[in-house]
Amino acid sequence: MKLGIIGAGQLGQMMALAARPLGIDTAFLDPSVEACGGRVGKLFCADYSDPTGLAELADFAEVISFEFENVPPATVALLARSRPVYPPAEALATARDRWAEKTLFQSLGIATAPVAEVNDQQGLVEAVARVGLPAVLKTRTLGYDGKGQKVLRLAEDVAGTFAELGAVPLILEGFIDFEFELSCIGVRDPQGLCVFYPLIRNDHRQGILHRSQPLDEPHLQALAERAVESVMQTLNYVGVLAFEFFVRDGQLIGNEIAPRVHNSGHWTIEGSRCSQFENHVRAVMNLPLGNTETLGPVAMYNVIGKRPEVHNLLAIPGLHWHDYGKSERRGRKIAHITLTASSDAELVERCAAVEAQLINEL
Ligand code: AMP
Repeated sequence: MKLGIIGAGQLGQMMALAARPLGIDTAFLDPSVEACGGRVGKLFCADYSDPTGLAELADFAEVISFEFENVPPATVALLARSRPVYPPAEALATARDRWAEKTLFQSLGIATAPVAEVNDQQGLVEAVARVGLPAVLKTRTLGYDGKGQKVLRLAEDVAGTFAELGAVPLILEGFIDFEFELSCIGVRDPQGLCVFYPLIRNDHRQGILHRSQPLDEPHLQALAERAVESVMQTLNYVGVLAFEFFVRDGQLIGNEIAPRVHNSGHWTIEGSRCSQFENHVRAVMNLPLGNTETLGPVAMYNVIGKRPEVHNLLAIPGLHWHDYGKSERRGRKIAHITLTASSDAELVERCAAVEAQLINEL
């Protein structure tokens, strides 16, 4: 079997590594000749809308998937003419536009922050009057890791902010004073069967994910699974979907969905019977889904900007180092670390040892 992936970053790389033992060959389309996925699969180096590159990928693959949601819609439409493309175009279109996303959540009865569309500076003034301050102003499309966002706290923060964020369509969200953030990762196969990983608690630093750890919260788990399942059914989804929530007063507030494998699920490689990467590949290739059960205490840290001394890290028991083979650059995710342990206390000890050695540059 052959899988084509749009984008050859670390997410694509980890999908290809999971596909290999299933006997599935992977090829990528990516404009960068240095894209790290090229080390583990065939790389067609071309722009995402280049007809020749797309034709090469479609010739190679039986099924096409993505590692990011900002694929040009015309690319998806073109590929879908000759190959099954999962997740489906509608899911990508919804997830790439924060307004479409929030509208979908609200139509399904999933709570969100108060939101308003903003298309010019006057519209921003009116949106602030409706939503109130503090609030978070975000670009509707192409934002990630806290980029394309600004927190507005005072009336004077509003002046000139539409232009500051690039004079593009925006969304204003009420600021949620959350207790913590979590994500729920679900998988849906082409027949509509859904499975879920345990909820994941996520800690961010400057808008970038720092640490993830599965969480045993049956009440929140049930609420999250219901929300994820309703989104997946509505979008006729196939593959892994991650839904990020804020938690306040024992309730979930929907923030955003990612129609792909997700950074908060990297720990599933060692921490689950079947990882999110393998389950995504299984779903899109129409294979039976794998067991999402967690094997024991586990946590994940992102390595950002600068590599710590790997030799010393590897001396920590239960530590798994995943280097994406990318060069160091401030704010760039270049590796991640998964820690496994036989007890919660042991995990806490091992996490402290990792935190003492991380030298992330944000
Ligand atoms: P996002 O790109 O929407 O995931 O936002 C990046 C991070 O900014 C989130 O993980 C939150 O920590 C924070 N954030 C985003 N939206 C809000 C909000 N409405 N209220 C409070 N914090 C937010």
